[in-house]
Amino acid sequence: MNRYRTIIDKNITKHIDMIMIISYTVFENGYQLGGYMKKVLSLIIIATMVLVMVGCGATDENMTRNVSSDVSDKKSTTEEKVVNIYTDRHYDTDQALYDTFTLETGIQVNVVKAKSDELLERLKIEGEDTEADLIVTSDVGRLYRAQTEDLLKPFVSDKLQNNVPEHLRSTEDFWTALTVRARVIAYVKDRVDPSTLSTYEALTEPEWSEKVVVRSSTNIYNQSLMASFIELNGAENAKTWAEGLVKNMARVPEGNDRDQMKAIVAGEGDIAIVNTYYIGKLLNSSDEYEVEVGEKIGVFFPNQETNGTHINISGAGLTKYGKNTDSATLLLEYLTSEKAQSDYANANYEYPVNASVQPSELLQSWGTFKAQEIDLSVLGALNADAVKLLNEAGWK
Ligand code: FE
Repeated sequence: MNRYRTIIDKNITKHIDMIMIISYTVFENGYQLGGYMKKVLSLIIIATMVLVMVGCGATDENMTRNVSSDVSDKKSTTEEKVVNIYTDRHYDTDQALYDTFTLETGIQVNVVKAKSDELLERLKIEGEDTEADLIVTSDVGRLYRAQTEDLLKPFVSDKLQNNVPEHLRSTEDFWTALTVRARVIAYVKDRVDPSTLSTYEALTEPEWSEKVVVRSSTNIYNQSLMASFIELNGAENAKTWAEGLVKNMARVPEGNDRDQMKAIVAGEGDIAIVNTYYIGKLLNSSDEYEVEVGEKIGVFFPNQETNGTHINISGAGLTKYGKNTDSATLLLEYLTSEKAQSDYANANYEYPVNASVQPSELLQSWGTFKAQEIDLSVLGALNADAVKLLNEAGWK
């Protein structure tokens, strides 16, 4: 509220400054009046214009119209100028972008941060009483879960459709990607020659026996990876792959993606399957050891000669019972705009969804790659099958 007030105050000050300049210019150049008369007339004009602005709520309206051209000017008269977000993202840049959005539109953004499963559970419990307008989460599997558990509502926006390519949006308009990440092969540069790497499938060959580390199959990133193989290669082949990978694991899965890279640098295996942004996080960590690990890791995009590297997204959907639908849609248009995308994606070393925006220098240094071409909704739809097959394959 205070910030909102400050914005309005600033805006009024700006308008007064402008009127002062206009009045001064008119009287100095247009009319040859005496000094006293000039002052009296100036004051009357300023007072009148300020009263008209405040009375009509013009400052407020102008704030909304000042939204960058990337954002449409739709606005409901019944909605509050606020968007309430449930998010599992914990990045300063997200907040900086929300702040900019507030400055440009006058729409306040409130954020609740928690783990995605907790947020979905909370939405379910709150039902119609929820304050949340928008849910932001990583992995399309979770967005799909929110959709099938009837927690989202469809939304249509021409701007968003221009900003985000079709394959990165829900086919039924329930969610959109905000950033893209690839699940790649990370290798120790001084021990592995990247020319010996080719596909995810090849990691099941005997030469990689006890050389592969990867996190648990309870993690959704691996479930989505497995779902993509079911879609592309069929359930039987996907299961055979998982069994082969388990056979080549250097250890029972433990830890997160960063821990896998620490493990291979420490000599526990040579190869890790990880999401790209974790390499960026290591390299930019405040912990010297993590930077050292990051510097020893090479990035390999598998399956370039076949069906492409697995990609996933972080994304957002409008909650079914959110009240501030127009403001929430405006925010999504803003977050996918060219202006916001470079900040949004680069901050977490992810790939932008807006094709007009270049990835960060670090990501560009890894080169371009061919991604799997599958409808991302499928990863959610096949999640249960993937979990079942991963269990059957013995992937802990
Ligand atoms: Fe992650």
